[in-house]
Amino acid sequence: MSTLHAGYFTDGLDADPELAAAIRGEEARQRDGIELIASENIVSRLVLEAQGSVLTNKTVEGLPHARYYGGAEFADVIEALAVERATRLFGCRFANVQPHSGSNANGGVFLGLLRLGDAILSMNTAAGGHISHGHPATLTGRDYRILTYGVDRESERIDLDEVRAVALDHEAKLIVAGGSAYPRAIDFAGLRAIADEVGALLMVDMAHFAGLVATGLYPHPFPHAHVVTSTTYKSLRGARGGLVLWNDEALSDRINYGIFPGVQGSVMMHAVAGKAACFGEALRPEFRLYNEAVLANARAMAATLAAAGVRIVAGGTDCGLMLVDLTDLGVTGDIAAKALEAAGLAVNKNLIPFDPRPPEAPSGLRLSSNAGTARGFGVGEFETVAGWIARIVKAPSDSAGIASIRGEVEALCARFPIYS
Ligand SMILES: *Cc1c(COP(=O)(O)O)cnc(C)c1O
Repeated sequence: MSTLHAGYFTDGLDADPELAAAIRGEEARQRDGIELIASENIVSRLVLEAQGSVLTNKTVEGLPHARYYGGAEFADVIEALAVERATRLFGCRFANVQPHSGSNANGGVFLGLLRLGDAILSMNTAAGGHISHGHPATLTGRDYRILTYGVDRESERIDLDEVRAVALDHEAKLIVAGGSAYPRAIDFAGLRAIADEVGALLMVDMAHFAGLVATGLYPHPFPHAHVVTSTTYKSLRGARGGLVLWNDEALSDRINYGIFPGVQGSVMMHAVAGKAACFGEALRPEFRLYNEAVLANARAMAATLAAAGVRIVAGGTDCGLMLVDLTDLGVTGDIAAKALEAAGLAVNKNLIPFDPRPPEAPSGLRLSSNAGTARGFGVGEFETVAGWIARIVKAPSDSAGIASIRGEVEALCARFPIYS
């Protein structure tokens, strides 16, 4: 009897009907609903194929052309290609494309550049910061002294005077900019001036605006940042994973060793292949058009919501994402998100700055134009979507109204098919 079951090298997903049904279900969910969650996007068929390739069989450790295992000839080509494309895309000298995720990219940089107990100054999560920047529930929150800054109560924007005061008072060694729910442009030059004054390094985590940076539509973190981290699957519209970029060769060993062996082991070569594909696409002229549309669509969605009486935090957006404040509508983010999901509109509940409510039932929602733009929606479609959102958040228990919008959502999605 063979040690392999029949079809081992030939059968596809259909050989496992239980799993196949769930994956096909997810495919249909993505096809028939509108994705507005800012941490998601829709990758190309090319990226899907690269990330689902035989590279999953290959184990490598170390950097291209300096591996601990043999047989890395093609892995080296792929990773070197990803690194070269990433540096060209972001106009910098060095890249590490190995982080399995955005959190690993951040953890690796902290481990490489800081000593245990050093002070990190990052944005608090209530104001839009990311948990991997030192939240007490994470390793980073345990291993470093975490200081935070927020936003100004009136403008709902970062207040550089506050950042400077906290950095000076507590001798920050690393200042972190960039978050998960901060919709406005960030003054990287202003933050670098503070970092220089206190003797800290500046790290920018551009997960939510990397695509806009690559195409010149958002302030560029370089030359101000000493190190830049990102995810590759949000604004960059690529395979799942993380990325680190820098210019100073003196930081190279510290950052590379911080990633491996610091926070992770062997490379997920299939994900690196997916990143190479993503960076290749991002270097094409169409990616600039995509990002122009992301911005125009987000601004149209924000303006339509505001005109319908739905308050937009900080008055608008400079990237693809925005925060909606539901306080005056008498509904909480959890209830609004469930009602929207029933209509086929996927969003996430979110804290707003100075939110008096808990994270499980916060006062806000976070929306993004990334994924809708990837399937071809323009300003007109996003105005329509914003109209639906406004109707639902004002009447989240109107199940007949929600059911009728669900039908309209499906009709709109049918006009913009994916993977067909
Ligand atoms: C999403 C995000 C991350 C974390 O990414 P994972 O891949 O989920 O670890 C890190 N930083 C920021 C700013 C993010 O928005």
